[in-house]
Amino acid sequence: MSFLTAETSILAHYTPYQGMMLIDGELCHSVTGKRVDRIGPAHGIVVANYPEGSKEDAGLAISAAHRALDKEWATLTASERAKLLLKVAEGIAARVDEMAMIECLETGKPLSQAHGEVSGCVDLWRYAASLARTLHGESYNNLGDSMLGVVVRQPVGVVTMITPWNFPIWILSQKLPFALAAGCTVVIKPSEFTNGTTLMLGEILIEAGLPRGVVNIVTGLGEEVGAPLSTHELVDMVSFTGSTRVGTLIAAEAGRRLKKVSLELGGKNPQIIFPDCDWDAAVDAVVFGVYFNAGECCNSGSRILVHKDIADKFTRAVVEKSRLVRVGDPLNPEVKIGAIINENQMITIEKAIQSARDQGAEILLGGERIPSRQGLFLEPTIVGNVTPGMDIAREEVFGPVLSILTFEDKDQAIKIANDTCYGLSASVWSKDIDICLEAARKIKAGTVWVNTFLDGSPELPFGGFNQSGLGRELGRHAVEDYTEQKTIQLHIGERTNWWLAKS
Ligand code: NAD
Repeated sequence: MSFLTAETSILAHYTPYQGMMLIDGELCHSVTGKRVDRIGPAHGIVVANYPEGSKEDAGLAISAAHRALDKEWATLTASERAKLLLKVAEGIAARVDEMAMIECLETGKPLSQAHGEVSGCVDLWRYAASLARTLHGESYNNLGDSMLGVVVRQPVGVVTMITPWNFPIWILSQKLPFALAAGCTVVIKPSEFTNGTTLMLGEILIEAGLPRGVVNIVTGLGEEVGAPLSTHELVDMVSFTGSTRVGTLIAAEAGRRLKKVSLELGGKNPQIIFPDCDWDAAVDAVVFGVYFNAGECCNSGSRILVHKDIADKFTRAVVEKSRLVRVGDPLNPEVKIGAIINENQMITIEKAIQSARDQGAEILLGGERIPSRQGLFLEPTIVGNVTPGMDIAREEVFGPVLSILTFEDKDQAIKIANDTCYGLSASVWSKDIDICLEAARKIKAGTVWVNTFLDGSPELPFGGFNQSGLGRELGRHAVEDYTEQKTIQLHIGERTNWWLAKS
């Protein structure tokens, strides 16, 4: 592992982004006029400045979304809606560099990864545009001669979207275009640490000609702005991505009011390595799987289960490969692990490492904060001698920390894989198709990769079992989640045999 420092010339010409909220079609300040700086976690300088929204701003945004539901937006055809979504896709494509830079500076992730994330969003918006045109209901012509049944899909109404800081614009793009394709109106609250790309998207939505009030964006803290978004009487659905802790709170509040909820939460995702695996590919996938996005990834492959016969050799290979992973300034193109998002998260990760030590695990690599004047960096960390009961084997760390466990046979591997409260994703590495398919069927997770890791595609549904979430995003049913079904029954011909016969 080596630590790489800044490409200072880039920052010397950088002007902090001055974001504005979007309410009722206008870019605006908060009601109080207060603003707040975002200090970048990699550089320790102000990288952006935002309105500090309040409950009152959230209320204004929800009312605007509610008013917009039955106006022009409701009258658009699928083709017109799809055209708007495609315009937004082009708007994002035109601003990829600018959006990637703010994403990099606010999250501390490498610029190249931020670039990949923002460009990937273009395809999500295009995919949603295609689904807008295929959304349809059903008809039933088999209900008897005098009856026709029609099932139509209508927008669920006002949807609020509360998003986290790890992939801010990607996670929003897994939600927003699909809700718009369904005809919903939306209020968004991005994470207070990473408002930038969401507010830039607000500017793009205005340029694309989205009718007033259809999308509203309010910045601010979770308890101040997020909470009313899950309790307000005019909100019909809450779509949340974030921690299981906050997701549980939101689901309880929304559930008490019988609002529809969709949750994408945490994970403790296993990669199971069998002796007959493609060795180099598996080692690469393990290193990539845990260090991608500094491990601040719900899908992070944060625990590997290795067959006992290859455990020592495989562990040595992973440790050696991990030493090549470069940590440091996310503006340096050679860096693979950037900064940790904030001091609190750093302390959480350090506590998890210390608790692993206290419970008898062994730190095989890293484990320490890297001294840096400007930023929050952690060494790539590997924890060995981990047993299934230890906290490090069960709890999400959300940092560049890998736990290594061993197993004796396939059944034990599957048992350990399923032995957490989560169920987001998993992978299996073996050339034996029977082993792979049995594991894929028995592992309780929303996604199981076979001989690969972290691949994704808008066509494939994404979401979790157990405490990893509720519902699915993406896939061809993604738009349907933002609709209600309505049954319309039509009687054909003269009405006879009514309840009370004519006298
Ligand atoms: P978080 O739960 O702390 O915050 C997420 C959002 O909720 C933020 O916008 C925050 O301001 C808001 N919030 C906080 N308290 C709130 C409250 N009381 N009411 C309403 N809103 C509130 O999560 P985070 O730290 O931003 O992100 C990390 C977590 O997100 C990890 O646990 C990770 O696994 C999870 N995550 C899951 C997925 C997935 O798709 N399954 C994707 C990314 C991140």
